[in-house]
Formats: sequence, structure tokens, C-alpha cells
Amino acid sequence: MSMVQSRVETGLLSERARNLAPSPTVAMDTRAKTLLAQGVDVVNLTAGEPDFPTVPVAAAAAHRAIDAGFTRYTASSGIVELRQEICAKFLRDNALAYSPDDVVVTPGAKYALYAAMQVLCDPGDEVLIPSPYWVSYPEQVKLAGAVPVFVPTREEDGFCVRAEVIGDYVTARTKMLLLNSPCNPTGSVVPRAELEAIGELVLAHGRMVVLSDEIYESLVYGAARHDSLAALDPALKAKTVTINGLSKAYAMTGWRVGYAAADRAIAQAMGNLLSQTTSGINSIAQKAAVAALRDGQADVQVMAEEFARRREYVLARLAGMPGVRCVPPDGAFYVFPNVSSAFGRTTPAGVRLTDIGTLGLQLLDEAGVATVPGDGFGVTDHIRISYAASLSTLERGCDRLEEFFRGLR
Ligand code: PMP
Ligand code: GLU
Repeated sequence: MSMVQSRVETGLLSERARNLAPSPTVAMDTRAKTLLAQGVDVVNLTAGEPDFPTVPVAAAAAHRAIDAGFTRYTASSGIVELRQEICAKFLRDNALAYSPDDVVVTPGAKYALYAAMQVLCDPGDEVLIPSPYWVSYPEQVKLAGAVPVFVPTREEDGFCVRAEVIGDYVTARTKMLLLNSPCNPTGSVVPRAELEAIGELVLAHGRMVVLSDEIYESLVYGAARHDSLAALDPALKAKTVTINGLSKAYAMTGWRVGYAAADRAIAQAMGNLLSQTTSGINSIAQKAAVAALRDGQADVQVMAEEFARRREYVLARLAGMPGVRCVPPDGAFYVFPNVSSAFGRTTPAGVRLTDIGTLGLQLLDEAGVATVPGDGFGVTDHIRISYAASLSTLERGCDRLEEFFRGLR
């Protein structure tokens, strides 16, 4: 049973639209928010959306931009001032030297991924996607006419993507590898040595490029470290599109600011696509992004420390829930516990839990906790819980989850 709305069925739609599944993370978040608006008592642990206010320097810069009348079309790849600031960020955080011509600003990292696939993939090309994966990757690959090929990772291995396993899935048609470290939904962070091995594999396959989605780079915990694939070797840099955005680090989800840096020819092709599709992102958000990247670092650090506390709390609570098993994530703000021991059991309301969809539904209906079932991420034994929520919200959510799992017969 799926918890999200199904594909649209009407003879009028294009084949592309008919084959397009709606985003289950967005759908679940919307569903939880709708219930809340109706007065239903739901603890919403669905979306990967920081609950913090946008970093204040960004909000102030946006006010100034409006007051100064900075409200016209901009260069469709983004204002030079912002692309310069993005280059400074890449140098500072990732040891990557780019110039503004290598950078495009997009409506969220989501569109950067989409644009990169549109300009790099031809029909029939295969795109390797480590699984579990973020929900939008396979659908975006299909929108580019390409074929998603899933590369499994193992729970016992912390869901880490392994070069050796990727190698087993490479064919003459492989065009692209999607890397997402830290990963949504598993939180796994690819260790440096593994990243180097992945880099070697990519270099050994001439036509293979990488989309490296690094949107959670500021959220790594304990001994884990984030490294950018493109920084490992100049030849790899030429084959890698590094994708990032301000949504997570700066609590700017609604501003829709993402970006990509790549070999100049790729960046230009993405810029051409932007010029024909979006005319760039809104001018005010661009000024806000300049301020965030330039002066928001201290806030990013404060939020990262708070996420670390929440992670500890949620992991400790999950450890106390019968039948729930969770690999501690090294990054991002999700936990991805295995809840399959609940399958075949019956809830206090008398519903038999047959699969992850039913479990997610009963968690919402009986326990009043909204999560995202793992099937949207390509696996059937897990649920994703976002801890981008206040500690008191997490406490209420965990109390309810614990009661639910304790109550199964
Ligand atoms: N990549 C991953 C892995 C994500 O979780 C998200 C969350 N929305 C995005 C990209 C896109 O973020 P945004 O479009 O808000 O920048
Ligand atoms: N990326 C976030 C998530 O996975 C926000 C929703 C979305 O864009 O998918 O929940």
C-alpha cells in the first residue's frame, strides 16, 4: 500500500508525465501539514527542512534588496556577485578553485540536479544510483530519458557506497554516477579512501560523469569528514558536477537557492537550459544568498551543533524501542531505522502490518507521527525520521513511536 498519491491517469498527458511519480517526501510533508491545519494532532517528522529561522544576515539582505529596487531579471545563471561568493565558498570549504563562469545558480539544488541530467544524459544512458537513494533521483533520470540503475548498499556496512560494488554495475552505456554524501535518507558519509577508489573507477571509464550532491556537507558528526570528489584530482574535477544549496545549511528551504559547479562547457550548457526554462532564480533571494554565504558561517555552526544534540537524543530513544534497529548515521539530519520486525504483527487498533506502507500509515493514523516509509527511497524495511525538528517535538514524536512499537501484538 502506498501512502502517496498515485501517478496521474488520463489519456491527455504525455508519456513523460504519465510515468512521473510525485515526490513522496513532499507528498508526506504536505499531508502532515494539511492534517495539522485541520487541527489533527500530528508530530511531523517527514521533511528535511530545518525548523530554524533563516540566517538573519540573509533575511536582512533580502529586505535591503527590495528597498533598493533590486527586483528585475538577473543573468539567468545568477548574478556575478553570488557566483563569486559561491567560488569563495568552494575554495574555503572544499579546496576547489572555480571561476564564476563554471558556476550556475538554480532554483534549489533539486533543479541543479535536474539541469545537470538534462544536459549530460541521452536517451538510453544508464545512471548509477546507490540505494537507498533520495526520492527525486530516479524520476529526474527518467525525465532525462535515461535509465536508473540501482547500486545496492548494505545496512551492516552503514549503507556506505562501495567502489567495488559500483564497478559491478558499470556497462558500456553507463553515463553517470550519482553520489550523495552525506546521504539522504541513510546519513552515510563516504570515507576518503572509498571516495578515492570511486574516483579511480570514474577515471577508468571515459564517458562516465558524476553528480556529487553535497547539500548536507555541513552536517557531519563524530569522526566523519566530508570530502568533495572533485577536489581529489583535476581530471576528476573535469568529470564532476558538484551540487549544493542553501536550503539545509542556512535554513533557507523556501528561498529556493541551489547551485552547481562544473567544467565550463557543462556549466554553460546548464546556463543555456536555465535561460530557456527559468530565467534564473529571483533577484531578492540571490542577494540573501550572497549575505548568507559571506556572513552566515557562525549560524551554520550553531545549527550543526544543535542537530548533533538531536541526533544523539533520537538515537538513544530508538535504542529503547522494541524491534527497532538503527545504524547511527554519520551525517545529514535523518535516521533510517529498520522496522521490519513489526511486519506480521498487529497494532492496538487491530490492523495487521503487512508492509512498510501500512506501517507508515498506521504510525500516522494511530500514533499521530508522520514519517516517510522507505519504499520511496528504494527499500522496504525502513522508515525515515527527520530530526530537523525541535527537541520537544522530537520528544513527543519518540514517545508516540515507542508507545506504538511497544503496543504491537
Ligand atoms: N538533494 C538532497 C539529497 C536533498 O535531500 C534535497 C532536499 N530537498 C535536495 C537535494 C534539494 O534541496 P533544495 O532543492 O531545497 O536545494
Ligand atoms: N529533501 C527534503 C526531503 O527529502 C525535502 C523534500 C524534498 O524536496 O524532497 O525531505
